[in-house]
Amino acid sequence: MAESGRKMTLFEIIQQNSAAVRVFFNVAGSVLAVVTDKDYRITACNDNLARNLHLPERPLGRALGDILCPLEDESFSLLVSRQDDTLLPQIFKVCYSEILYKCYCFGLENGFLVFGDRLGGTDNEVLQSMSLLNNELSGLSRELAQKNRELEKANRKIRELSRTDSLTGLANRRYFQERYEHAFSLARRHNAPLSVVMLDLDHFKYVNDTYGHDAGDTVLKHFGQLVRQNCRHEDFAARFGGEEFIMYLSHTTAEEALELAERVRQIVAQADMLENRHQVTVSIGVAHISEADSPEALIKRADQALYAAKKAGRNRAWAL
Ligand code: GH3
Ligand code: MG
Ligand code: MG
Repeated sequence: MAESGRKMTLFEIIQQNSAAVRVFFNVAGSVLAVVTDKDYRITACNDNLARNLHLPERPLGRALGDILCPLEDESFSLLVSRQDDTLLPQIFKVCYSEILYKCYCFGLENGFLVFGDRLGGTDNEVLQSMSLLNNELSGLSRELAQKNRELEKANRKIRELSRTDSLTGLANRRYFQERYEHAFSLARRHNAPLSVVMLDLDHFKYVNDTYGHDAGDTVLKHFGQLVRQNCRHEDFAARFGGEEFIMYLSHTTAEEALELAERVRQIVAQADMLENRHQVTVSIGVAHISEADSPEALIKRADQALYAAKKAGRNRAWAL
């Protein structure tokens, strides 16, 4: 018992609390606590001995030397630590593994008390856990790379969808605008030819009203295909809205653009889009870049040319 008024040391507090001492020896990290008789047979031990050394149960009655052996000296004996607190540790190896324990041994009346504190893992153990971690890491890296690829693919798909008209598969108006403005500024900078072509199906309302909206959709899809098939590498086609389509043709003179427009007009005028029930036709307006043009002005002129084609009787290509 500590004198009243004096603060108890940690040691004294623990010493007075037998439940705490019991718990300490059973839960504290990897410290082994073993009591043997004078023949080194284990008479008591804490849970750590069985748990840390992977024994099925507390090895009571077994020779301590079967479990822990001296690192160098083959013959088992415990070097008892002196009473004056100058603790002399001995290094012991777990007999069936490379794990090392630094042990402190105390002589009892009829045996020994041994505390063992685990030394850092062996090189093998460290290498093994490093290689396990490395494997785990490269597995995770692979998984991450795969997820990134999937994400990239999904992003590409989203980008593609946001640029595409779902009915015809052609570019939509927004994406056309983006590409067109770029093509226009390139044409300006290099003083290169650029033409814009507007296409509008004739009397399309009649198609819808007579054959139904689905038949109208089929015509739009079919027309979209024809437009795409007649595009060259430097052309870009889009659905501008409703039954109206648009193309810009880079490096293309007014004559060449009109030629392409006329070719498309003829193909449409001969195509069978409604099972021979009705001949679909298209009117087309063509405009070519001039020095004063803004991107909008060029499109506007193509639209005016389209209006002129309609006014002149439809099913024709008109250039302004
Ligand atoms: P015009 O020769 O003067 O161009 O006559 P039009 O009937 O083609 O022109 P109008 O602008 O009067 O009608 C266009 C029609 O196109 C009306 C609209 O219902 C139809 N339309 C627009 N978008 C779609 C679509 O996605 N599917 C279908 N089936 N019809 C559409
Ligand atoms: Mg129309
Ligand atoms: Mg129209």
